[in-house]
Amino acid sequence: MDSLIQKLLCKYGATGETHRFFGQHHKMYINGEFTDASDGSMSEVLEPCTEALLARVPAASTEDVDRAVAAARYAFDQGEWSNWKPAQRERLLNCLADLVEENAQTIAEIESLDAGKAIEGCKAVDIAGSVDLLRYMAGWARNIEGSTRQVSAPGEHFACTLKQPIGVVAAIVPWNWPFNMAIWKLAAPLATGCTLVLKPAQITPLSMLFFAGLCEQAGVPKGVINIITGKGSSVGNALVAHPNVNKVSFTGSTPVGKTVAKAAMDNINPVTLELGGKSPMVVFEDADIDQVVEATQQSIFFNTGQVCSGGSRLYVHRSIYEEVIEAVADRAEVMKIGFSLDPSTEMGPAISADQQSTVLDYIEVGREEGARLVCGGHRPDDAGYFVQPTIFADCNNNMRIVQEEIFGPVLAVIPFDTEEEALELANDNIYGLAASVFTRDFSRAMRCVQRLEAGTVWVNTHDMIDSNTPFGGVKQSGFGKDLGPEQLEHFLETKSVWMTL
Ligand code: NAP
Ligand code: MG
Repeated sequence: MDSLIQKLLCKYGATGETHRFFGQHHKMYINGEFTDASDGSMSEVLEPCTEALLARVPAASTEDVDRAVAAARYAFDQGEWSNWKPAQRERLLNCLADLVEENAQTIAEIESLDAGKAIEGCKAVDIAGSVDLLRYMAGWARNIEGSTRQVSAPGEHFACTLKQPIGVVAAIVPWNWPFNMAIWKLAAPLATGCTLVLKPAQITPLSMLFFAGLCEQAGVPKGVINIITGKGSSVGNALVAHPNVNKVSFTGSTPVGKTVAKAAMDNINPVTLELGGKSPMVVFEDADIDQVVEATQQSIFFNTGQVCSGGSRLYVHRSIYEEVIEAVADRAEVMKIGFSLDPSTEMGPAISADQQSTVLDYIEVGREEGARLVCGGHRPDDAGYFVQPTIFADCNNNMRIVQEEIFGPVLAVIPFDTEEEALELANDNIYGLAASVFTRDFSRAMRCVQRLEAGTVWVNTHDMIDSNTPFGGVKQSGFGKDLGPEQLEHFLETKSVWMTL
């Protein structure tokens, strides 16, 4: 292991498991076996604060995709898992939840180092949320139901619907919530009896490879969960286009989502797309400003702004415009930026040099477009891909920094005068993932809830998520829901059954 990483692990009291995990040559998980790429190719995984080498992982080939899909196909077709009693699936999902919970500290440390995530937030949100979702979906395994239907056809018949698992699922996840998004992708299909092949983002594969060990420990039958590591444009593409897959579940950017949807469509496979966002927060003159400050902090500055539903456009009523800007900036300016394993860190680095330069380029665009820089705007002097929390005021909807997803800690603030104008500005965007409104006026809140074009609308908060509330976008933020009972539907076929009596 890189000696710098070793020192940091010692300094922050990392678990023995974490110490053992890093510096290794890891393997993928196919058909219940830990395996290298068929051609032996490997790629390096880096830590984004120090750029130190964390581990090496296989760079899968399309042959490995075939192997993984064949394993999932065989497991599904042989009834391994799909024919298990619901109570057995429930028990196994709960066992996985217990193992994740028992290893929460180690998983959080791995995730924190791999993705640059501030450790405390990672534990509280990513890992705790994953445990909860596994338990939530475990509960659903026994509650999947069809219905009986009254029919009017001549003769005497009994008709009902039968819900059956859809088959083999191809799941692709991004790098901003590597562990949590992967659990979002796998808990629901497993509850319904599907088998799956999951590909983490190439730059953040480690927490899922650790999870593969937990699958082994829990006794997941071979072929039910397969985890392959490799490049999206080759391995990811081969997976979502694979003819033996029955369903594609994708979380990532809108441009890649379009490619994935086309590949799925070539096989007439259903696809769920959880894509990008540029979520508005609308603050009326009667808003509680402390709530607004808390919400911006928890959305656009949490996870270094690498949050799909992050409130990146702040529309503020002109009468409280300067006051809100000042309050939000005062909090942003004292955010503690630092090494991800340090428990006092509030914001870690951007995930990579590429992402850091994308964000810094957008900050330059904001300056050129004439927005007023209120705070941040630079990378701190330290090594690592850090970017300061940045606020631009006096923006307008024609600016690129208001229209395009930056995916960094950059907030654009825009004034408005009337409710009608605020709604028009908020809806004037290609994305529709989420939105929030801040007001004490119940009627106004309900009008906004109805008219905001978004998959989720929050009132007096932003970025609240629960296993039981469906999450997904409209417009170019995608379609289909993750979480909640709605997600299960994507992994179930509805068969109509007729019996003539
Ligand atoms: P990305 O570039 O679209 O990549 C997402 C995943 O797709 C990665 O695993 C990537 O693999 C893979 N991929 C790339 N090309 C592919 C192809 N042709 N076929 C199949 N898979 C392919 O997104 P990202 O940069 O990792 O993540 C950031 C984006 O995700 C943002 O736009 C964010 O808004 C969105 N996001 C949305 C949600 C949501 O719930 N709506 C949640 C989180 C993130 P490689 O890493 O190997 O390239
Ligand atoms: Mg990494």
